[in-house]
Amino acid sequence: MTAPSHQATHPRPVVPPIYQSATFFLNEQAYQDIQAGGLNEHWYGRFRNPTVDVVADAIATLEHAEAGLMTSSGMAAIATTLLTLLTAGDRVVSSRQVYGDTWDLLVRDLPRLGVDVVMVDVTDLQAWRAAIQQRPTAVVYTETLSNPQLEVADLPALAGLASAAGARLVVDNTFATPYVVNPLPLGADLVIHSATKFLNGHSDVIAGAVAGDRATVREVQRRVVTFGGCLDPHAAYLVWRGLQTFNLRLQRQCATARAVAAYLESRDDVVSVRYPGLPSYPGRSIVPRVIKHDRGGAMIAFAVAGGDSRALQVLRDLRLACEATSLGGVETLVSAPFNSSHFSLTREERRAARIDDGMIRLSCGLEDPDDLIADLRRALDNAATRTWA
Ligand SMILES: *Cc1c(COP(=O)(O)O)cnc(C)c1O
Repeated sequence: MTAPSHQATHPRPVVPPIYQSATFFLNEQAYQDIQAGGLNEHWYGRFRNPTVDVVADAIATLEHAEAGLMTSSGMAAIATTLLTLLTAGDRVVSSRQVYGDTWDLLVRDLPRLGVDVVMVDVTDLQAWRAAIQQRPTAVVYTETLSNPQLEVADLPALAGLASAAGARLVVDNTFATPYVVNPLPLGADLVIHSATKFLNGHSDVIAGAVAGDRATVREVQRRVVTFGGCLDPHAAYLVWRGLQTFNLRLQRQCATARAVAAYLESRDDVVSVRYPGLPSYPGRSIVPRVIKHDRGGAMIAFAVAGGDSRALQVLRDLRLACEATSLGGVETLVSAPFNSSHFSLTREERRAARIDDGMIRLSCGLEDPDDLIADLRRALDNAATRTWA
């Protein structure tokens, strides 16, 4: 049998093929590209893969970016980006309310490499300003909607502070998604995603993405090559497949979240509901400047009376919603930050980060909203008949 020729003509499929090939036929163009840095042609899968390119372009489009790239996970996207932008002696000013593994990267790993990291409360603009202006800053880092408190970062204000200081604003937009917030038009320099979450949307893949201006994305792509965190083409295909329903899913998930948040707020045994789409949301004044079309997102954080032990009773009693970490899937996912995403913090540290006792994080799926509310009602009522009061 002969090897397939790269010169054969192929039908043009509507669905991108999975180029499950680690290497591609070399030709004159490929040799020229190798000499020029190797990022323009397809000749080895860690540099570029056509299936991965399709997804990177789609995510760049969703984020109004010039260019995009894919990585093997959200953490690979974050680590590769930060290690591209930073060298020893540089300084990062970051939101304190970040994803747990991002916290570890910032607080434990980057300082080991000689990077100075300062954490500030995401809602405290005075603290951001003081920290950014105090010493030369290379990177300002935040999440659009924080995990799990769902604080909305004031992206236009942070972009102003960053650019005045000559720093790059890097934004993790995983929780909000491009359906709800587009950080780049608000002044961010780079936007990062855990594509594992809403972009893929089906809880069946681990993937990451970075989008921004062409030159910077190319710089990060060079480190995907050297650090090795490239995305597998089959995983890329699954993200592409998920993206086909991104808009529809988010439309429905945001509408369901609004209904669920309103229901939770109506209950006496729910002491707080954090959802950016509710009139009672504490950061309400920032919402119109950051969030598109008054959307609220698909994530809710709420705290039940009776604290963490009752939160656990409620979680264990849910039948439709799944007690699992992660978010953004078609199934509703619930977890208590105190024993999952934020288990390493002491009770005092959790309070300081506004993770209330009894807090539950809920990622709305595609179930019937009435069924979901009925599930929550039953679990909350059930837990009320026990001994929490
Ligand atoms: C899940 C998540 C990450 C990490 O993404 P992985 O794909 O799990 O590596 C980073 N940031 C946020 C906000 C996340 O939710």
